[in-house]
Amino acid sequence: QLAASFNELLTAINQNAEQEREFTSNAAHELRTPIAAIRSHVQLLERRSADHPEIIPRSIHFIGEESLRMQKLVDSLLTLSRADRGTLKLVSFDLTAIVHETIEEERAVLQQPLNVKVATGVQVFGNAESVQQILAAIMENAGKYSPADQPITIELTADTERVQLTIADLGIGITDEDKARIFDRFYRVDSARTREIGGTGLGLAIVAQLVKINQSDIQVMDNHPQGSQFIMTFPPTTSSVETAPK
Ligand code: ADP
Repeated sequence: QLAASFNELLTAINQNAEQEREFTSNAAHELRTPIAAIRSHVQLLERRSADHPEIIPRSIHFIGEESLRMQKLVDSLLTLSRADRGTLKLVSFDLTAIVHETIEEERAVLQQPLNVKVATGVQVFGNAESVQQILAAIMENAGKYSPADQPITIELTADTERVQLTIADLGIGITDEDKARIFDRFYRVDSARTREIGGTGLGLAIVAQLVKINQSDIQVMDNHPQGSQFIMTFPPTTSSVETAPK
């Protein structure tokens, strides 16, 4: 029996090492693409800009775009590595206030109208900053993957059993097969629409890690009549949920 559990442990360690190798190779690959693009524009500028000054603004624009893409990727990698360490302070905080604050920030960047149904005075146990990050990431995805005129609904409900935060969109939706994979690191749905929109495939991996640190749960489901909904469930907070007076 000891040998069996030792073998199990060994398998787990090997799987972990394999995942790490895969992650590093993915990260390197993702960085290589913008680096190659930047280098080719620098070469172009060096060789041709004297004779063809008209290429200068276009190349500078590309270099700017590609370095921004690198910066986003590096920022995501750092956030993920911090989240992996799992050292966030968990305290009781006002989720209602955090949700409203995030909605107001996101309203400025999202094109879609927002449909807000947020229960008042909901207290939960967790890390407010990371919950804000989770909500922002999911709202931004809802914005990226749905038409500009289709509303995004943000709903916060609380009862003695649980506290739930739902973000629902009327966008392109996610197949059941992809639902199982979208939280994986670097996973992006393989469709023309997704490629066109662009992204790193790290956003939801960070969300998953932050949700774990918050000792919460997240699920993705179909929305009706179309699109997706992400439901974050916080651990029960019986004592802190405000109940309506009888
Ligand atoms: P990305 O940077 O590609 O958006 P994410 O990790 O945030 O990376 O999401 C992973 C993939 O999940 C996306 O590439 C997209 O295909 C899919 N996805 C995420 N959110 C939604 C959504 N609200 N509707 C449809 N597809 C989504």
